[in-house]
Amino acid sequence: MNSKEKLKISKLNWQEIGLEEKYKIMNTYRDIYGSPPWNEGAYCNKEGWGKRISLQEYRERLKINNLHCDCGGYFTPCYPDEEVGRILNEELENKDQKPFGVIIKKGEKVIGFVFAGIIIRKHLINKVVKTRSEGDKKRDTRLLEGLELILEKGKIDKILYCYEIGIKKEERKGITPLSLLIKGLLVYGENNNVFSGLFWTDKKNAIYKIAILAGFLPVYSIPDFRTGERIFFLLNIDFKKILYNLKIFKNPAIALIRTNSTK
Ligand SMILES: [Zn+2]
Repeated sequence: MNSKEKLKISKLNWQEIGLEEKYKIMNTYRDIYGSPPWNEGAYCNKEGWGKRISLQEYRERLKINNLHCDCGGYFTPCYPDEEVGRILNEELENKDQKPFGVIIKKGEKVIGFVFAGIIIRKHLINKVVKTRSEGDKKRDTRLLEGLELILEKGKIDKILYCYEIGIKKEERKGITPLSLLIKGLLVYGENNNVFSGLFWTDKKNAIYKIAILAGFLPVYSIPDFRTGERIFFLLNIDFKKILYNLKIFKNPAIALIRTNSTK
């Protein structure tokens, strides 16, 4: 694949695309989360998600028929087809809110995506629990009450909530693909007259640093019970400044990282 091949952003209509395209997106989803830093390729059936191997390691072990974990358990895929399909259907269905998706392609390959929605404050916790909670939804709902309070204090009634954003590992050099996705996302907010944005991530994710440079603030955190790590919610109560920069800088990556340092 020519590394200079042009990147193409397009809107994703999950309900309308064909099966072949759906599989491409599902594979990209699996590849992204199956690679470092998440390594959600496969997990030990005895120890759970705390004991994981990358998708690459899982595939190598599968070839030599060695899926045993040291503890006596065995490794089982984190994202089999039916699981990825279920996640994407749930995240991109249009029952409660109009979801928004953008994919980024290099040639015919899907190399990244962003999924988001415009969410009414009262529905936010529900949406967060639905799109990321594993297991005890009541406990997670309680844990997230403080997040709703922060929005209430900030008088934010509607928010652009981004619940998935990812770029394939081999395309993460430089922040151009990521910033193109962020641009697509923020313009969607603008088109809907919503200028507050929220997303969650862990500190290992490159987007954490980029978001801070672009003026987002970590305002809340909760434990990820599945992995034992911590996830952070980053909020920007008014991203008009980023939109402004995106209009004046041709390169969206520069527009983003300049936002906090320009007046
Ligand atoms: Zn084990």
